[in-house]
Order: sequence, then C-alpha cells, then structure tokens
Amino acid sequence: MIPVKPLPAQIPNWQQLWRDSLRDPLELLELLGLTGFSDRISATARAGFAFRVPRGFAAKMRHGDIHDPLLRQVLPLLEEDVLSPGFSFDAVGDLMSRGAAGVLHKYRGRALLVATGSCAINCRYCFRRHFPYAEETAAAGQWREAVDYLRNDAGIHELILSGGDPLSLATPKLAQLTDALKHIPHLKRLRLHTRLPVVLPERVDAELLEWLSDLPWPVTVVIHANHGNELGPDVGEALQRLRQTGATLLNQSVLLAGVNDDALSLQLLSEGLHQFGVLPYYLHQLDRVQGAAHFSVPDARAIALHRELMAALPGYLVPKLVREIAGEPNKSPLY
Ligand SMILES: *Cc1c(COP(=O)(O)O)cnc(C)c1O
Ligand code: SF4
Repeated sequence: MIPVKPLPAQIPNWQQLWRDSLRDPLELLELLGLTGFSDRISATARAGFAFRVPRGFAAKMRHGDIHDPLLRQVLPLLEEDVLSPGFSFDAVGDLMSRGAAGVLHKYRGRALLVATGSCAINCRYCFRRHFPYAEETAAAGQWREAVDYLRNDAGIHELILSGGDPLSLATPKLAQLTDALKHIPHLKRLRLHTRLPVVLPERVDAELLEWLSDLPWPVTVVIHANHGNELGPDVGEALQRLRQTGATLLNQSVLLAGVNDDALSLQLLSEGLHQFGVLPYYLHQLDRVQGAAHFSVPDARAIALHRELMAALPGYLVPKLVREIAGEPNKSPLY
C-alpha cells in the first residue's frame, strides 16, 4: 500500500480570504437564518456600491437577528434609495481640497494620501460610495506625483495613509511608497487609517509587521471599529501584534443609528478597545452622504450620549465627538 501523505496545513493568506469574501447579501442572510428579510435588500443600492463582507466579520454577527449591529453596517437596504434633503454626493468637500493626484491637503501640518480606493468591506454609511476613486488614487501613478507634492511643501510633517483602506494594498507596494518618502526631511510622522485589522485581522501578517517595525518615523495606526462585537479574539491578537511594532493604536468610530447609538454600546466599545491596547480617538457624526440618512443620529442625541459616556468612563476612554465641516481648519467638536 502506498502511504498517503497528509497535505500540509493550508494557512489561508489574507489575499485569499479577501477574495473569498461574501459578495451577495442574500447569501449572508441565508447564513444568518434571515432569508425572510430578503425583500428589504435594494438591488439599486447594491449596483451603486457593491456588497462585500469578509467571512470572518460575518461570523461575528448574531444568528437570526436582523438588528445585529454588524449586519446593519453592511446590508444594502431599500432605505438607501430614498433621496434625502441635505445628504449630498461630496459631503466633506474632498473634491475641493485636492493637492495632487490622490493627496488631500485640508489641515495644517498633515496631508492625507488616498492610497487606494479598495476596502476589504463596504460599509453602507461611508462617504467613499460616491468618491471618484479611479482617477484619485495615488498608487495609480506609482506615487510619483504625490511624493513630489509632499517633498515640495516643507510645512507637511505628517502623512496619513488612507483610502479606501491603505492596508488593502500589498505590503511591497506600501514599502515602495515609504522608501520614496524616507528622503523627505520635513516628514516627521506617519499615520495609517485602516479598518483591516478589525474586518480581516489576518492582514496583520509577518510581512506587514516587519515593514512597520522598520519605518524611520513614529507610526500611529488608527483602526476603525464601531461596535464591541467587532473585537473578537482574532482581532485582539492582530492588535497585540501591531502594538509590538511600537505603533500607537487609536480607534475612530462613526455614530450610527441602530448600530452604536446607545451609551452602553459605546462604553463597551471603549472598554473592549482598551483591553487590546487601543485608545478611542474620534466618534464622528455621520458624513451626510446620499444613501446613508437611515444611519443619522440627531446632534442633540449625539451630545446626550457623549455626556453619558463621560459620566461612565475615565476621560482617556472617551472619544472626541466631532463632525467634518467642509472648509473648517480641523474636525469640529459638536459642543
Ligand atoms: C480627517 C482628516 C485628517 C486628519 O485629521 P486629524 O484631526 O489630524 O485626525 C487629515 N486630512 C484630511 C483630509 C482629513 O479628512
Ligand atoms: S473607507 Fe472605511 S468606512 Fe469606508 S467602506 Fe472602507 S472600510 Fe468601510
């Protein structure tokens, strides 16, 4: 008899897991035992902004609960088709503050690079659903125009890699950018805004950690979690690995009706983040983008929730409650 050799254990890499994401909301509803709600899905909304959810994120949703806070963030509901007054297609004035291909330079001292238009997950409340990414990502031009822009403005001390999600780019591509930036003397800090450690924690692999550890600047990683249920043990481990590179870890959330618009959810989120060495940074009022009105929370309610949070937690676990107003020199506190 020929002995059968066991196959080597297949450790799926993050790119495989990303490709294997759920692409059909009906499949997700079926996995969750919620097929009865399929008539609430909008084909129009889905065609305008694709449905995409990593399976590991879906696995954190509660079975049989249409009100699950993770599910609500990704489901293209009929509500998205309602045209709402005051909700626009360029809610934060991004098209006005273009510095160079993919560079948004709105605030003093820091510039934001739209490194890519891709994300591992498509969040229905996101302003990104209307941004013309095909022309506006810096990676498309091999970074050249963006790097020139940064080099020529000595007032820029911090570069923020954003998107889309910068960690949806392969690590060698990111290294290509940071290699070009190393020769810019006025650059003092690097920041990444990314949801990948939360929605696809496998992205925090050895190659990424090596890249981060070797960067010549202090690095801040701002993750994006909106609800404590997003922070499973796999996410916790990814965050621990990130911390070991010496990066400062912060979180930003968006205040979302039906997801986290109650004081207890916000408190549990802050406490859950802190367990993994992450401090809350911003709690954003929703950008008023067309199709996201069903997530909006009135300002008075947002302020009341924030006050409750201050009364319940130490100051360092209370995020700043802000909104983005086009033309303002910084994110604006609500009160
Ligand atoms: C939000 C944002 C920043 C970062 O603002 P911080 O207050 O420094 O976190 C920078 N540039 C742009 C274009 C932004 O939208
Ligand atoms: S940019 Fe952030 S919030 Fe928007 S879809 Fe991507 S991961 Fe979600």
